[in-house]
Amino acid sequence: MFEVRGFAAPQANAPLAPFKVPRRDVGPNDVHIEILYSGVCHSDLHQARDDWGPGIFPMVPGHEIVGRVKAVGAGVTKFKVGDYAGVGCMVDSCRECESCKRDLEQYCLTHTSFTYNGTEQDKTTPTYGGYSTDIVVQERFAVKISEKLDLKATAPLLCAGITTYSPLRHWNVGPGQKVGVVGLGGLGHMGVKFAKAMGAHVTMITTSAAKGDDAKRLGADAVLLSTDAEAMKAAASSFDFLLNTIPVSHDLNPYINLLRLDGTMVLVGVLTPIDGMIGGALMLPRRTIAGSAIGGMAETQEMMDFCAEHGIVSDIEVVDMASINETYKRLVKNDVRYRFVIDMATMPA
Ligand SMILES: [Zn+2]
Ligand SMILES: [Zn+2]
Repeated sequence: MFEVRGFAAPQANAPLAPFKVPRRDVGPNDVHIEILYSGVCHSDLHQARDDWGPGIFPMVPGHEIVGRVKAVGAGVTKFKVGDYAGVGCMVDSCRECESCKRDLEQYCLTHTSFTYNGTEQDKTTPTYGGYSTDIVVQERFAVKISEKLDLKATAPLLCAGITTYSPLRHWNVGPGQKVGVVGLGGLGHMGVKFAKAMGAHVTMITTSAAKGDDAKRLGADAVLLSTDAEAMKAAASSFDFLLNTIPVSHDLNPYINLLRLDGTMVLVGVLTPIDGMIGGALMLPRRTIAGSAIGGMAETQEMMDFCAEHGIVSDIEVVDMASINETYKRLVKNDVRYRFVIDMATMPA
């Protein structure tokens, strides 16, 4: 075991402060990554504030981790020292269950070890995330990142990227399809870029005309203002697929009505109860509502390779580690286009 510099929330709702993060010694199948950048996901804030139930403290958030491989175990085949590597929302799983065998470790039937606010497979040892200078992780749970991409702007791909890429792939989004992305934030802006790169006709569905303009800059073909009742009516039953990234409970019915026969809306943002869904609107005409969570490790690598091929990264603003509490305040106000990324070189000594 060794200790590295990091930032932690000592308890729920407390400001983040410097913390010595314990990391395990590099095992045979481990890679030791020097963290260069760590994205700031909205779920970091939720978990540090116990919004989703009691967390494990001290908590070192961060599950959008990119850096350079510093050391590898004797059995590691995927990485060599000096490679760029990324770690996302999970660092281990049972690897034996039906989900793990299908490379869907995020749906492990036994125990997914999340990158922070979780435990290792012993269900006891706490995990600590990316707001730190170093991490040691099983090579299966690290992905390779092309040198062609701007490293700091790849960090959000590890959560915001894969969260939107995976459902677009699973539901076979492609040319000839009309896709709507609901909500323009960290997730939505990646959804627009991916759906466009996959060849679909992409509409940004938002309450804000200004965000609509921004979505066009990101590649959206059209904008639909959800506050414009006439426009919503005119767009009824016209979408093959909707990627709903709104992170809070909201009325789904206006969006359900946008789906055509056999159209699907996938929820990737909202975790809380949703009331008032109208069964008849799902039945006529045969519409589907589904959910999706991040993606497996093989698919995360596929996404990274897709990004390298298409030159896709996130739109980011780089911040200092010591300003993280200010950054959280700005995050609450949605004052970010579209992801904060911490430059780990700014970690206080
Ligand atoms: Zn996240
Ligand atoms: Zn499993």
